[in-house]
Order: sequence, then structure tokens, then C-alpha cells
Amino acid sequence: MSPANAVTRYSPLRQFVTLGVIMMVPVLLLGLVLAHSYQGEANSRGLAQGRSEALLMAQSAIEPLLDGRPLSQQLTPSELMGLRTLATDVVRNGNVRRLRLRNLHGAVVFSDDGSGFHQRIEDEALSAAAGHTVTRLTRFNSDVVDRGKIGTEVVEIYMPLDAGSAHRRVGVLELYLPYTPISNDVRAGLRMLYLNLAIGLALLYVAIFAISYWVGRRLRRQVKLNTYQAEHDALTDLPNRTLFHRQAKAELLRGLRLGQATTIAIIDLDRFKEVNDTLGHQSGDSLLTSLGLRLATHLRPPDSLARIGGDEFGVVLSNVADPEGVLGRLRELIHEEIEVSGLPLSVEASIGYVIAPEDGTDIDELLQLADVAMYVAKNDRSGVVRYLRSQNHYDAAKLTLITELRQAIAEGQLVLHYQPKVDVLSQRVIGVESLVRWQHPVQGLLYPDRFIPLVEQTDLIDDLTEWVMARALADVGRLGANWTSMNVAVNVSARNLGRVGFAAQVIGALTNAGLAGGRLTVEVTETAIMADPIRAAESLGELSKAGVRISVDDFGSGQTSLGMLANLPINELKIDRGFIADIGSSSARTGIVQSIVELGHHLGLGVVAEGVETVEELETVAMTGCDVVQGYLYARPMPLEQLALWLDEVATMAPIRFAGTLGGVDA
Ligand code: C2E
Ligand code: MG
Ligand code: MG
Repeated sequence: MSPANAVTRYSPLRQFVTLGVIMMVPVLLLGLVLAHSYQGEANSRGLAQGRSEALLMAQSAIEPLLDGRPLSQQLTPSELMGLRTLATDVVRNGNVRRLRLRNLHGAVVFSDDGSGFHQRIEDEALSAAAGHTVTRLTRFNSDVVDRGKIGTEVVEIYMPLDAGSAHRRVGVLELYLPYTPISNDVRAGLRMLYLNLAIGLALLYVAIFAISYWVGRRLRRQVKLNTYQAEHDALTDLPNRTLFHRQAKAELLRGLRLGQATTIAIIDLDRFKEVNDTLGHQSGDSLLTSLGLRLATHLRPPDSLARIGGDEFGVVLSNVADPEGVLGRLRELIHEEIEVSGLPLSVEASIGYVIAPEDGTDIDELLQLADVAMYVAKNDRSGVVRYLRSQNHYDAAKLTLITELRQAIAEGQLVLHYQPKVDVLSQRVIGVESLVRWQHPVQGLLYPDRFIPLVEQTDLIDDLTEWVMARALADVGRLGANWTSMNVAVNVSARNLGRVGFAAQVIGALTNAGLAGGRLTVEVTETAIMADPIRAAESLGELSKAGVRISVDDFGSGQTSLGMLANLPINELKIDRGFIADIGSSSARTGIVQSIVELGHHLGLGVVAEGVETVEELETVAMTGCDVVQGYLYARPMPLEQLALWLDEVATMAPIRFAGTLGGVDA
């Protein structure tokens, strides 16, 4: 799927129109506000023009007619004559609608049309008498004191009149000028202004629209890209676990609605870690990309493929008649030779699958069961396996535990407990063994025998050992100044030893922890060595070269070829607990332990007795010449904090006080 159609579809035209309409609103509002203020501006310009016309008339025509006496002292006949002539002229040619003169008390002393005498005195007239010009836009005869028909728009002006040689204020000029010629003038200018405003707003609209559209498109693309990235695997560009879960659920529901079967499969590559370790991560990545492409081209919608983990793919098949056949074909496709970094490689895969609704209808449960089936396929090396509830040849609960363990490692549910190893002669602690426990969220603290044998069957043991190694080395490095040479033992499984790159990984862990090789003991059982003696010898050889001590765990319980012992770089034999229990009461067991100690010493190896629980056992073991003991007698395995206390309080004295006063938490 491309990023373009990864998210909900939208109509570009609708988007375009909606944006256009939304952008129109602010532009129109701006237009209205500007038009309103232009109109206001035009009106005040009209009034200003009226005022200057009135001023011109007052100064050039009326004031020269007056002799300088206040108008309250009656107009002279010549003044009256001059005024009448002037008024007749200006009113006739339409320049003025009405002309009145008022004395300084506001009373009308001259009026071109005989109106206004004996009227109530208006405030405007008094203002003008006090020296202020008052101008307003109104309608003819609309003053409350006026009688007569209300007429067209006029500019009404009250203006002080100064006359005579001394330019004294003598009265008030009241003038009504027709507004139409003035407003025609003003409107002509306003029209131009409106045109410019319209053009400006249109340009602004286009610019805002273009910018918003461009920004919006970029944002939408970014959101699409983010959504896509959140749901896809960066390496293969396939859907990731999140999207797979959603797709599988949708397909499951569709199948249930249509009464069709949906197959959900989990494909896990076998020994993929080895490719990473031997050829490098880049090659591992390129292998995954090629395989993803190969599988994707084989599947057709609505079937889907996803990369749901490091070397895990998920597949959903809709209404497929022969899912086993299709999955088998996918497995063959994976197995077909592929060239990685110039090398021809061939990879195996284990596939587990379920068919809904037969195996269930809950997507989470189905995925879990497919996972379980995949582990069965891995254990049995049987390729493609369907989960069957009826099948009894494996314990589903145990296998579920394996699928949970992957999460447990990631979520830090594993804990390490440490059990001291004590030197028999000096009674001093010479090291500790790390023993893993699983703080299971539901089942409580689980001991290794519950999960290690299961995990050892799968690649998960690599992750587990890697985690234990890193944790143990970090912990022992934190024990404090008194214990800077403390050695820590880590148990290692056959599968770890057989993996190419294991030794390098351990050496890397030592480097990370900043510890010398001598601080680590690797405990391997005889059986682990015998599972793949050649690989084991290689791994142990490399480790030994790096100074790491090698201990053979549970010695005596397996079938080690004695020849192997001489050839492997071993430092220590750990006698199986079975020979130590009640050793004093069995001369046979004492004899065996005695022989192992002698054999070990002949080969130059240290010998450890584990599972020492009583003082009698300790005494017998000591008599055999055994070098080191480990067991509940001294301490049970315990968490790091408790070990630190124990070391400081108990182990600093020799001989060590036996447990009962202070011990580990393992019951
Ligand atoms: P092991 O390596 O032989 O570890 C010794 C086991 O004996 C531990 O059991 C320890 O608690 C127990 N033990 C020690 N002293 C006494 C004693 O005096 N009496 C009795 N009855 N038992 C004693 P634990 O911790 O249950 O581990 C069991 C096995 O699980 C280990 O045997 C080891 O094989 C495996 N294991 C533990 N941790 C790891 C790990 O991190 N990785 C791997 N691969 N295996 C581990
Ligand atoms: Mg051990
Ligand atoms: Mg053991």
C-alpha cells in the first residue's frame, strides 16, 4: 500500500471548495469593515467641503455687507438689501437651500424665505455665537423647530460671523447647502476607492487561498506520512505488528459476517540470528527485505502480509481452500536460495497457523495460538503446523509460557538470584552463580525448571542468555570495593554454544561491562557439549582465549567422553547434586565423588560440589579433596541486594557462619 491511500479517502474538489468558502469569510469581513470606514470618511469629507463653501461665502459675500455692529441692533436697510440680493442669487442658482443670519443670542434676524423668526433658539446657534462652527449632514426642514416639508439631504452649517474693520463677532450665519452636488463629488472619488478595494481584496483572497491550500496540502501529506510510518516497518515497508493486528481483526470480522474461514499464520525464520552474527546486520536486513518482497509478490489482496517482529512475519489468508498448501508454498519460497552480500543463502522457516472461526474468534487469542503452533513447528522441525486444541502431544499452557517469555524479557520480568561458591580450605567466597527467575505477572515467581527446558527448544534462549549475561556482569561489577575480583557464573545452553558468534557476543558483553574475562565463568552441562561437540569446542576455545573460565555443570549425570575433557579448555567440574545428597550414608556415592575429584585434579581442573545442604555432607565432600562447595548450607540463591548484605555480614569472616542465621530467599 502506498502512503497516498493509507489513510481515509477525501475528495480534493470538496476540500478545495470548502477551503475557498472558509477563506472567503475573513476577506469579506475585512471588505465590510473597510467599506464602512470609507463611507464614514466620505461623509466627513462632504461635511468639510460644505464647511469650506460656507466659509468662503461668509468671508467673501456676507461679512463685507455688514457694517460691524452686532446683528442684535437690527440690520440697516442697505444691509438688508444686500443680503436679499445675495440670498435671491444663491438660492435661485441652487447653491444654497436656505440662508439665515442670527444675532449673538441665537435669534433669527434675517431669513431668505422668511422662516425661523420667533423660533426656539437652537444649541448649534449658541455654539456658533460662542465661536464654534457646527456642521452636520441632515435633511432639509428636519430640525424640530422647523416647519415645512422634510426635503433632500443638506449640509447644515452654523458659523460665527465677524464684520467691520475691527473684525468683531457680530452674529451667526446659518446655511443649508444641498448635499447632492457635494456628495456627487465625493462619491466619484469613493467609487474609485471601492474599485481599488475590490481588486486588492480579490488579490488578497487569491494569495491567502493559495498559501492555505499549499500549507494544508503539505500538512495533510505529512500527517499521511506519519500515519503510514507508525503502521509500517521501516525496513521492508510491510505493515507492522499494529497494522497487522488491525488488518487481521478486520479480515476475521469480514469472514465471520460472510461465513468464510480466515487463516492467521505466523512465520518465524530459523537461526536468523546466525545470519546477523556471521554476516552482519546489514546482510540480515537485506535478507529480510528480499524475503518480504518475495512473500508479498506471492500473496494477493485481500490476503495480507506483515513484518511483526525481528524475523517474524504475519500472514492473513481469506477464504483459502487449502491454507496448509499455501503456507507450505510460502515456506518453500523462503527456503529458495537468495543472494545476500554476494553469498547464496538458504533460510528455513517455521510456520504456525490457526483457522477462524474453528480455532476461535478472538483475534488476540488466535494470534497467541498461532504463535504457540509456530513454536511447536520449531520444536518438531515440522515446517507448517496448525494449532489444534485436541492435540495432546504438547502442553499448550507451557507453550503459551514461551510466547509470554519474549514479552517478559522485553518488559524486565526476569530477575537474577545469586548463590555463593565457597572455597573449602579457606572458607572464603570465591564466586557466585547467577540463577534466573521469572517474576510472572499472574503465576508469581517461576523457577528455571518451569521455563528453561522449553525456552531451550527455541531461538528465544539466545535472547534469554544475552539478557542474563549482561545483567550478571553488570551486577557483579557493582558489588563494591571488597569484591573487585568476584567471579560470576552464568549457565549457558547447548543452543547458545552451537550458535556461531556466541563467543564474540559474550566477549562483547564483558567489554560493555568493563570486566576482564577472568570475572566470568560459563557453566555448560555435559549434554550441552555433546549436542554439537565441534561447535561447542570452537565456542569454548574462543571464550577460554579471552580468559573466561569454563565449568562443566552437573558433571556425572551425562555421558561425556573422557577424551573430550582432556581436549576442551575446561577449568572446573561441578559434581551433580545427585551424588552429593546424603553422601555420608552411601560409600558408593562417596567413591564416585572421590573418583571425580581425582580425575579433575589429574586433568588440572578445580572440582566443585553443588547441593551441599548439611555439615555432614560438607565434611564428607571436604574429605574427598573437593575444592569448592555451593549449597543451601551456606546460602540459598538470593537477589543482588541481599547478596551484597550477606557478603558484607557473613562472608568476610572465616569460617563462614552457616545458613539459618542469614540465607537466601529461595525456599
Ligand atoms: P544448576 O546450574 O545446576 O544450578 C544449581 C541449581 O541447584 C539451582 O537451581 C540451585 O538453586 C539449586 N541448588 C543450589 N544449592 C542447593 C541445595 O543445597 N539443595 C538443593 N536442593 N538445590 C540447590 P535453580 O536455580 O532452580 O536452577 C535450576 C537449573 O536451571 C540450573 O541448574 C540451570 O541448569 C538452570 N538455569 C538457571 N539459571 C539459568 C540461566 O540463566 N540460563 C540457563 N540456560 N539455565 C539456567
Ligand atoms: Mg549451573
Ligand atoms: Mg548444576
